[in-house]
Amino acid sequence: MTNIDEYLSWLAQQPRQIIITTHHNADADAIGSSIALLRYLQKKGHNALVILPNELPNYLKWIAKQEEYLFFSPETEELCNDYFQKSELIFCVDFSTYSRLNQLENYLKNSPSKVFLIDHHLFPNVKHHFSHWNPDAPASAELIYEFIENLGDILLIDKSIAEGIYAGLLTDTASFKHATTPKTHEIVAKFITLGLDTSTIHEKIYANNTLNKLRFTGFALQHKLNLVEDLKLAYFDISLQNIHDFDINWGDTEGLVDYALSLEGVDIGVVMIEKEDHTKFSFRSANHVVVDVLARQFFNGGGHAHAAGGKLYMNLENAKKYFLEKMKETETIHCISTHKN
Ligand code: 5GP
Ligand code: MN
Repeated sequence: MTNIDEYLSWLAQQPRQIIITTHHNADADAIGSSIALLRYLQKKGHNALVILPNELPNYLKWIAKQEEYLFFSPETEELCNDYFQKSELIFCVDFSTYSRLNQLENYLKNSPSKVFLIDHHLFPNVKHHFSHWNPDAPASAELIYEFIENLGDILLIDKSIAEGIYAGLLTDTASFKHATTPKTHEIVAKFITLGLDTSTIHEKIYANNTLNKLRFTGFALQHKLNLVEDLKLAYFDISLQNIHDFDINWGDTEGLVDYALSLEGVDIGVVMIEKEDHTKFSFRSANHVVVDVLARQFFNGGGHAHAAGGKLYMNLENAKKYFLEKMKETETIHCISTHKN
C-alpha cells in the first residue's frame, strides 16, 4: 500500500484498527479535529481511539466522551504502547514535529503502522506515508472537513462531528478574526444549517473561567505585564511560584498572551511561563510582524506566522535575560519583520 488510491480501497474495508494522536497540551483545534475524525471513522465502521500525550484541560473536556480517548500517564503507559504497536493506521493531527508528542514520540517512531498526517503547521518532520497538509489552512479542523469531503462523505458529517470541527475553527482563528478563508465561513454556514448551536460552543469554551483563573489574570495584568516601547513588545513573565500561589492549571494561562498583544502600539505579545525544567514561550504578533521564524530559530519551537511557541531549558530569570537580549539583536529584528504572503 504505497499510493493514495490503494490506501483508499484499503480503508474502505473495515474494521481497521486506527489511532488518532495530537500534540501535548491539546487545544480546541487539536482535540476538536481529533474527535471529529474519530466519530467519522467510527461511522465508517472502524475501531478507532484518540490517544493524547497528556490529559485535556477542564474547559475542553466536553468535546470528548471518556471512552473516546486515552491519555498517557504512568498507569496507561503499557496500554498506549500496545495501541501504537497494534494499530494499522495512525492519524497525526494538528502537529508536525515529534517533540510535541512528549512520551508518545517513541511509540509513534517504533510503530509498524502507516502514518497519515493532517496538519497546518510549517516544516513537518514527522515521517508519514500520506498527508493532507496545508499551512495556509486556518485550523486543522478545516483539513478534517476537507478530508471527509474528499472521500465523498460530506453527508456523514452530523452535529456531533460538526461540533469538534467548529471548536477548532473558532479558536484557531481567534473567533474568526484572522486566517479565515471563504471556505471556513461556508463550512460554518453548513453547520448552522445542520442545527449546530454555535453560541453554546462559544459559551463552553470562553465562558467557563474559574475564580482562581480570573484572580490570577488580574494579578498578572497588575504585576507581570512589561512593556518595551521601543521594540513594540509586551511580555508577561510568570514563575512556577505564581502558578502554585493561584493553584491554576496549564490551560488557565491560555489567552493571557492576547492581553499583551492588545496593548496600543504593540506588535509582539509574549508570555513566558516557568515549568519544572524549562520555560515555555508563547508568541503572538500583529501587522507585518511574524513570529514563527523567531520561535524556530531562537526558542526551539515553531508555529504559524502570527501565533508561535517554544521552550528554553532555563529557569525564568535566565530565560527572560536570554529573551530580552535576543529581542534587541538586529538578527532577531530582521527575522520578525519579514513580510509573508
Ligand atoms: P501556544 O502559544 O498557544 O502554546 O502555541 C501557539 C502555536 O505555536 C501552536 O499552535 C503551535 O503551532 C506552536 N507551538 C507552540 N509551542 C510549540 C513548540 O514547542 N514547538 C513547536 N514546533 N511549535 C509550538
Ligand atoms: Mn491548529
